[in-house]
Amino acid sequence: MQTAFVTGITGQDGGYLAERLVGEGWQVHGLVHSPDHARAELMERTPEVVLHEGDLGDASRLSAVLDEVRPSEIYNLGGISSVALSWQAPVLTAAVNGLGAAGLLEAAWSLQERHGAQVRVAHASSAEIFGAPAVSPQDENTPIRPHTPYGASKAFAHHLVDVYRRRGLFATACILYNHESPRRPETFVTRKITLAAARIAHGAQQTLALGNLDARRDWGWAPDYVDGLIRAIRHDEAQDYVLATGISHSVRDFVEAAFTHAGIADWTQWVEVEAALTRLGDAVEQRGDATRAGAMLGWTPSASFEDVVHRMVDADLARV
Ligand code: NAP
Repeated sequence: MQTAFVTGITGQDGGYLAERLVGEGWQVHGLVHSPDHARAELMERTPEVVLHEGDLGDASRLSAVLDEVRPSEIYNLGGISSVALSWQAPVLTAAVNGLGAAGLLEAAWSLQERHGAQVRVAHASSAEIFGAPAVSPQDENTPIRPHTPYGASKAFAHHLVDVYRRRGLFATACILYNHESPRRPETFVTRKITLAAARIAHGAQQTLALGNLDARRDWGWAPDYVDGLIRAIRHDEAQDYVLATGISHSVRDFVEAAFTHAGIADWTQWVEVEAALTRLGDAVEQRGDATRAGAMLGWTPSASFEDVVHRMVDADLARV
């Protein structure tokens, strides 16, 4: 049986990845960090998964776990994934996202060196490495110039993937654009919107406070991005890939689509714009060009913007 190791297994993408790999007959091990509720949900969906306690920032623990598990595929999805949180905790963000990736890559390379069996690594990089890009859409050759602590930590990890690839490790970085699902935490704007639309439709909420409604993002469906990571790690050649839909929409578009789907005619009367929620360093538009992933991996997004919004609203209407 083939063995995979996943950091961030209790997160949105980690859960979808665990389901995919278990479904394919892989033995799946994951690193777990804190909340018990996320762990309980994961074990309910995929009881076959073996969990190991540990922090990405603890390099010696990572190395010990990898020695025990001896995976052939490692997926690095763990870390601080919120730009807002990275402004509140820049040192922690650098330690977990940046140094954590360094510890994992070093442990993977060392495992391969000691046992002689190939170890492959797929790392979840981010569109935030491009900061506020001057070109649109962005691709794998767009200059890396982050504008946020999160982006900077991801840029460091992104470069390190290339360093270890040159050192002889099969390491791929997928530059992920925003991808959503009903499993997205409520602290992210998309989920905040879909949950508010569901609650307002049920008379359980009065207002929704948002930041910049004009910010444009390239939103896709999370399981598609997990599929892209799997395709990248199993390709003949280790490369970096942009995974994106190539279409951007504004936060305003997202609100309108969500509220309309929830049966609310005029969204404007429920939404308040708060300057304090507009984030420093936020890109006006992120839009990715996934031509390379399409040509080399045969990857294409399966869901439209409307599909993503409707699935999230439907799930929140059912929950509320
Ligand atoms: P997520 O839902 O926020 O999950 C993050 C995971 O990282 C959680 O399992 C979390 O565990 C774990 N984690 C946090 N701190 C850790 C630490 N110190 N040690 C070990 N694990 C730790 O993120 P996601 O949306 O699934 O995203 C997966 C990856 O893709 C992340 O690296 C993210 O930065 C990247 N990415 C995501 C998007 C997107 O739109 N979703 C876009 C670009 C890039 P706890 O809950 O226990 O803390």
